[in-house]
Amino acid sequence: MIYKRSSALFAEAEKVIPGGVNSPVRAFKGVGGTPIFVKEAKGAYLYDEDDNRLIDYINSWGPMILGHAFEPVVNAVIEKARKGTSFGMPTEIETEIAELAVAMVPNIDKIRFVNSGTEACMSAVRLARGFTGKDKIIKFAGCYHGHSDSFLIQAGSGASTFGVPNSPGVTQGTAKDTLLARYNDAEHVAALIEANKDEIACIIIEPVAGNMGCVPPKEGFLQTLRDLCTSNDILLIFDEVMTGFRLAKGGAQARFGIAADIVCFGKVIGGGLPVGAFAARNEIMNHLAPLGPVYQAGTLSGNPLAMAAGLAMLTSLNNDDEVFNRLEEKTKYLHTGIAKVLTENNVTHTINRVGSMISVHFDAAEVVDFESAAKGNNDTFKAFFHGLLNEGIYIAPSAFETWFITDALTYEDLDVTSKAVDKVSKSL
Ligand SMILES: *Cc1c(COP(=O)(O)O)cnc(C)c1O
Repeated sequence: MIYKRSSALFAEAEKVIPGGVNSPVRAFKGVGGTPIFVKEAKGAYLYDEDDNRLIDYINSWGPMILGHAFEPVVNAVIEKARKGTSFGMPTEIETEIAELAVAMVPNIDKIRFVNSGTEACMSAVRLARGFTGKDKIIKFAGCYHGHSDSFLIQAGSGASTFGVPNSPGVTQGTAKDTLLARYNDAEHVAALIEANKDEIACIIIEPVAGNMGCVPPKEGFLQTLRDLCTSNDILLIFDEVMTGFRLAKGGAQARFGIAADIVCFGKVIGGGLPVGAFAARNEIMNHLAPLGPVYQAGTLSGNPLAMAAGLAMLTSLNNDDEVFNRLEEKTKYLHTGIAKVLTENNVTHTINRVGSMISVHFDAAEVVDFESAAKGNNDTFKAFFHGLLNEGIYIAPSAFETWFITDALTYEDLDVTSKAVDKVSKSL
């Protein structure tokens, strides 16, 4: 495939945008080469600036769960735009989407809309601190909760007590309040709680991790966290920015039958427009301004275009009782197809899958946490990525990302993908 125009556009972009991109993973640093510029997209396909057609397995990192340029969303946005794009005043549609979200998701009474997943997680933690009167938080290595200061913490090997910042600009003062735990290691969490008695406000977790590849919670892990939180007056925050409205109508809470105290949303909830949200039961949400003392605000929060897109998306998902089964079946079919050809070609691999999230790791070890996921960040992955790209298949340009299956994919697309994996495997 030829990427002449994409390369030229990237060179132009680099002059005026740091690294040529507005979010780092887009720059292909993890795999080498230069990024592809998108001209348009429809259904399961991307069309780039050189008029190549690509089957898309990223889908804007999740939001396009029903395909690109999904008609009900597009129409809702166009109709709203004609009536004014922002007022900074309440609108009826905010209540409509809030009512629908509260009806679809278990254990929440109220929801506040923001503009990104980052904002949702940042605000959820502030609310947890305000509600509990405690400062420290526990997060898991390899889980991503957006780019706010408290979350950009990683410990060295043997991650245990106090976090150290992994970005300049994050102060030691902030880092010391973020404790880092190993995913799927409940004993580690229990030890952190014991060592920081009465100081921990919340545990924040991706109930299925999606930012180190797809890493499912081990049997009983989430329940143990729930129990630890309940018995220690700690709030359990499910960051469902990725899993919300994807793993089930009610997200991971519904899928695993575990009640979180605060739930964060993003991605699918905005249908492709910039939307995030956080939600909880009344007792907690009533601590937010203007009802309570915990401040949180946004000029464009609840923006009518964003709400129209989100409402159309959630309505489509809510009205289709089969959509999550279809997504799961398609993902399973792809899993089977890829596993078969990788095995036939003797490529060492591990595939993780939950619902419509799937990731391929080029290592034999089971992938259960950040350490095991990192083993798959290797030259095989890079060759795999570029090989697939050359066959017109677009997966995330990083070994630490999940593939997001969209309902717009046909079984024929999935077969084409497995064939491409077969071809690429022979050269790995
Ligand atoms: C994408 C993501 C975020 C951040 O959302 P943005 O909209 O990119 O700010 C937070 N948490 C999880 C689990 C995510 O996948």
